[in-house]
Amino acid sequence: MVTDHASRPTAARGPGLPASITPALLERLTAQVSAAPDASRVTTSAPYTGVPLADFPVSTPEDVEAAFARARIAQKAWAATPIEERKKILLRYHDLVLARQDEALDLMQAENGKTRRDAFLEVVDIGIVSRYYARNAAKYLGPKRRRGAIPLLTHTTELRHPKGVVTVISPWNYPLSMAASDTIAALMAGNAVVQKPDTQTALTALWSMDLMYEAGLPAGVWQMVIGRGSSIGGTLMDNADYMMFTGSTASGRKIAGDAGRRLIGASLELGGKNAMIVLDDADIEKAADGAVAACFPSAGQLCVSIERLYVAESIRDEFIAAFTARTKNLKIGAAYDYSIDVGSLTTPSQLETVAEHVDDAVAKGATVLAGGKARPDLGPLFYEPTILTDVTPDMTLYDHETFGPVVSVYSYRDIDEAISLANATPYGLNGSVWTRNGARGRAVAARVHAGTVNVNEAFAAAWGSIDAPMGGMGDSGLGRRHGADGILKYTEPQTIAHQRIQGFTPPARISPETWATLLTGALKVLKAAGVR
Ligand code: NAD
Repeated sequence: MVTDHASRPTAARGPGLPASITPALLERLTAQVSAAPDASRVTTSAPYTGVPLADFPVSTPEDVEAAFARARIAQKAWAATPIEERKKILLRYHDLVLARQDEALDLMQAENGKTRRDAFLEVVDIGIVSRYYARNAAKYLGPKRRRGAIPLLTHTTELRHPKGVVTVISPWNYPLSMAASDTIAALMAGNAVVQKPDTQTALTALWSMDLMYEAGLPAGVWQMVIGRGSSIGGTLMDNADYMMFTGSTASGRKIAGDAGRRLIGASLELGGKNAMIVLDDADIEKAADGAVAACFPSAGQLCVSIERLYVAESIRDEFIAAFTARTKNLKIGAAYDYSIDVGSLTTPSQLETVAEHVDDAVAKGATVLAGGKARPDLGPLFYEPTILTDVTPDMTLYDHETFGPVVSVYSYRDIDEAISLANATPYGLNGSVWTRNGARGRAVAARVHAGTVNVNEAFAAAWGSIDAPMGGMGDSGLGRRHGADGILKYTEPQTIAHQRIQGFTPPARISPETWATLLTGALKVLKAAGVR
């Protein structure tokens, strides 16, 4: 919860803040926000308890302009820094994140309310992403020889220049992953970054930036501003050379329109209504474990989590029994250790949406197989992991993203029906297919309209395959993170073609007709010789 006025939420039951979150740490991190000394302040509260957590200065549009001015100067030297140097900094950052992970885990849990297990996956993610781009950036960014217009006579090279200063806008649901992973790629490509993390989870984002500076990033190359999109969003857009946005589809549409008016590139990682398909030959026990892992991480506040589950009619009852039993056994609660399975929602508005969606479905005839209610006894924002059946198109959660620990289970008769149900959404972010037959699973996966599809995994297999692109089709976004796409999008390609000896203009002593005949002959020879 974020309050920018005097009212303070009252303390609720739940653990106090961990010892690592000291006033000195809060002071050090919040001092790194690009804002004037007399800036107004905004206070966040801890989801587990509702007690105040951190007090941030709020950046004004002028502060954002100043951050861009500093970033522009710093970026020039950074772009000229050899890629080997950038690589060393990123590998040091990798080591620092792993060594100091407990600080990050405490911050993520305190700001977001997730479990330590869910938070740890973010540490793993950043480890993988930083190693990958440290070790592969030179391959992607280095000059490439390309086939010239005239073989042997045209020497053609493709160069990759950084865009300049990239704006990164990151959400609150994965405070470390979302704050750092897209920024790492932008930095490795030689850009500076001005970032607006969601205020609710800005401590983790600032911690990550602080560590990158400790690893050796030169001053000014990465800057953080804090504020509402309605106040500083325009300035963040007007100054950007490229926009990296992660958030809802509604916000993404606006950002895309603004980027279009400015004619800058934008990468948009947006919402989803992801489907899991359990085929009739699936290992039911494994699929039930997979469904738990797919639906309830970070209390379902995960863009790639599953909210629709389609199971073959022949195994429906057996699967539902196994999935429901596991879900009812999950341990919900708040603890700064690895003992908990499902944590808290992050904001009151998330709790409101989840409760509204479930209540609406139940009022219209849905059956609750597990969960279905808030748990104020555990903390102000807890909601039970919930499984629904008998969900119909008139219910809001049938086709709207809930972004909470709620899944609707349906059955299907044949695979064509399963595919058409899974694809009956404007979204297309992630999918999951369960089967004992890998080849069959991959064939079904290829028919799912989604940017990533996992076979016998929920989302981690595709997300963690960092060498391959990750992102959404349809209303789930534009552009991709990870792999070559995830770094090349932050560059401007440039083609340098050096023509030697003879160009396309006929030499003085050859008539245009003869020249045309010669070139026609040359084209035939090139084709016959198998030249691509
Ligand atoms: P949101 O769009 O409301 O806000 C996300 C962030 O963007 C916030 O910090 C907000 O302040 C900022 N913002 C919004 N409009 C802005 C503008 N015009 N200018 C500057 N900043 C602006 O999203 P949310 O509800 O907070 O986040 C949850 C959504 O994010 C879900 O729909 C989820 O699926 C999606 N998400 C997608 C991915 C992905 O990789 N595809 C990852 C995480 C979350």
